[in-house]
Amino acid sequence: MASVHLDGVSLRYPSGTLGLERLDLRVGDGEFVALVGPSGSGKTTLLRSIAGFLAPTAGTVAIDGSTVAGPGVFTPPEERRLGMVFQQHAVWPHWNVGRNVEYPLRLAKLPRAERAARVAEALDMVGLGGWAKRDPATLSGGQRQRVALARALVARPRVLLLDEALSALDEPLRDRLRLELQSLTRTLGLTVVHVTHDRDEALALADRVVVLDGGRIQQIGSPEQLVTEPASPFVARFLSDATIVPGACEAGGFRASAHPLVVPTAALAGQGGRGDAELAVLPQDLELRADEHGDAVVRSSLFGREGNDVIVDWQGLSLRARTTGYRPRVDERVTVSVRRGLVFPSEGVRSAQRVLA
Ligand code: ADP
Ligand code: MG
Repeated sequence: MASVHLDGVSLRYPSGTLGLERLDLRVGDGEFVALVGPSGSGKTTLLRSIAGFLAPTAGTVAIDGSTVAGPGVFTPPEERRLGMVFQQHAVWPHWNVGRNVEYPLRLAKLPRAERAARVAEALDMVGLGGWAKRDPATLSGGQRQRVALARALVARPRVLLLDEALSALDEPLRDRLRLELQSLTRTLGLTVVHVTHDRDEALALADRVVVLDGGRIQQIGSPEQLVTEPASPFVARFLSDATIVPGACEAGGFRASAHPLVVPTAALAGQGGRGDAELAVLPQDLELRADEHGDAVVRSSLFGREGNDVIVDWQGLSLRARTTGYRPRVDERVTVSVRRGLVFPSEGVRSAQRVLA
């Protein structure tokens, strides 16, 4: 078990693409951290930089307090003592399950008896006890992922790195493996960095969630913090389907620039001050009322267990709402009110403040 510290890590690919930009991250010993972000945000690049398959172009990576990558230092992956599982793990088809799991121990030249005991233990952990002699061709996708997980755990890694390890599986198997992954890693007290593009998976599993975009960290926090206090319009939209409205904060409240929307100060939360701003409205903070004379029209209305996912068109503005109890019909007229809006100074304003600071 170990901590993982990244300080000022940047990575530029030979093609010129910036994969990571001055990234700081501290994963505590025994912590489960999820990295989430849209495709191309740098999740895999970050994970592979920890694993040692990529070398940062600036900054340092330290595991358990010792630098494994940095100026003049580079520890190869096989010496970092990490376990890694990918989306579609290559389980070698010509080897049985036990031999597949044993592979890292052979590389490490462990004695035969110890190898056998460790393989049995790792297979037990992932619920495949007694499966050592099985031919991988007879396994389901979920069972193959368990074999990959056993192989990642068999050498008792300091940190477990998962890159979309559950993403290729279908429900309900995926859901079950999520639960098992959580109980297994928590029981072992393993430090885990879990990459996923699935925001619900990240929020469900992790102690802390890191939201990435454009190779930079947008926010780090507990699932509750990210959902209730998003640090930017991007995080509010990515994690919670917030509607983002450009406008300005004035004496009476927020006024949208391209729509007749005005939200009074009393209903505003977030980073105050006057000037150009963006309003983020979370779906649960919009209220819809059936009203045949309403000035908004329902475009879609999907049933959901925790509330219906409704999109309304309100004078050219498309708003996403979550309603409980009342599920409007498509094309129905409604009136809309904003219970709470989160205000963020506009990018332009923010960078001007940075220049001044
Ligand atoms: P994610 O895993 O979040 O989808 P990646 O880490 O794979 O994102 O990619 C981050 C950025 O780096 C993207 O712009 C991607 O196109 C670029 N990138 C990834 N791998 C390579 C590579 N081998 N060569 C050049 N650019 C790459
Ligand atoms: Mg990826």
